[in-house]
Amino acid sequence: MTNDNNKNKRSLTSRILIGMFTGILCGFLIRTFLSGNEIVDAYIVNGLFDVGGKIFIASLKMLVIPLVFVSLVCGTSSLKDITTLGRLGGKTLAFYIGTTALAISLALVMGIFFQPGSGADLTSATTFSTAEAPSLGQVIVGMFPSNPMAAMSQGNTLQVIVFAVLFGIAISLAGEAGQRVSNFFSDVNAVIMKLVTILMEVAPYGIFFLMAKLFTGLGLDAIANLAAYFLVLVAALLIHAFITYSVLLKVLSGLNPLIFWKKMKDAIMFAFSTASSNATIPVTMETATHRMGVSNKIASFTVPLGATINMDGTAIMQGVATAFIAQAFNVDLTLGDYMTVILTATLASVGTAGVPGVGLIMLAMVLNQVGLPLEGIALIMGVDRLLDMIRTAVNITGDSVVTCIVAKSENELDLDTFNNPKAGEIKLDLKHKA
Ligand code: ASP
Repeated sequence: MTNDNNKNKRSLTSRILIGMFTGILCGFLIRTFLSGNEIVDAYIVNGLFDVGGKIFIASLKMLVIPLVFVSLVCGTSSLKDITTLGRLGGKTLAFYIGTTALAISLALVMGIFFQPGSGADLTSATTFSTAEAPSLGQVIVGMFPSNPMAAMSQGNTLQVIVFAVLFGIAISLAGEAGQRVSNFFSDVNAVIMKLVTILMEVAPYGIFFLMAKLFTGLGLDAIANLAAYFLVLVAALLIHAFITYSVLLKVLSGLNPLIFWKKMKDAIMFAFSTASSNATIPVTMETATHRMGVSNKIASFTVPLGATINMDGTAIMQGVATAFIAQAFNVDLTLGDYMTVILTATLASVGTAGVPGVGLIMLAMVLNQVGLPLEGIALIMGVDRLLDMIRTAVNITGDSVVTCIVAKSENELDLDTFNNPKAGEIKLDLKHKA
């Protein structure tokens, strides 16, 4: 076997890992040895890296709306019985809200126990102004599109989900005409999934550019001052991800968590590098359907919905941040206040769009609710980007866990695919299919 052949055999996961680590290393090296060099800044960092990274993110986002719409139309139109949809929706929502409430409770317990904010230096706090967080009523009304084309062009995932579900139901009720439309959508779906695999093939380069650009500018000095906050938050995220999710998966669906984690690697790295659950939807969907064996019927509904409303990682950040800010400003929160935090952070995470940095803005909603100063947000802003990357990875892992549990309970998960380590590995064949 030649060397060339071996090179082609390197798995996508290891190529993404290489892209990620060389990108981080490159960013650090430039920051350490070449910072201030105008040529490097202009042509490499703000030229090549910036352009490459932006093209990558744009191409991922390009796929989100067509993929969500088409696959959800396929999923809903293939439902034999509309009542299934109600059961599916209820179950999914209950799991999404339940896991988020669990996440935030864990975060609060850790925040209270480890006291990351006691003795924090407040002098560095600058004022922080934030946009008004929307109310729950606004979030619900906002789910219904008055113009589906506008919803698509604005990338409003929730509105597109609602329209696609209604459209799919109508297809399933429209007899022969519906069948023809449904066949057409299944073909389009296959083509879009192919596009996802093509994009995943070039992803290692995109991830390299993203990481290299980010780490040339990422100030990590702030981490030293906020070490306690940072560590407690990362620990809470890891415990929720590795312990809560593994236990839920095993107990509620009997699936092997180790296999689950192995198959999640690519999606996790995408979420980490993009810090956007939304941009990661194509990869999460591909992982759930092709690697884990979840039927498109379930995944097309649970994955985009989860990426939009289920943010366990974000809720954990909000819990630890609330405890931290209360301690730093010497405000005593009562048990009632903590209950309010659990409720509002769960709602806030529903209202948080899956894009970088929004979790911090939604934190304002939680702080307001218990009368904590919004300036506290400025305190933790300096370390938020790195934490955003980690919590986004947790967010999409939560979506995938619930997707597997719901699919298994509905008999819509193919165990052979799930248990086969090689299932769904991306292999791109650029030859025409006859
Ligand atoms: N970046 C997160 C996500 O896309 C949201 C947040 O917490 O800011 O899932």
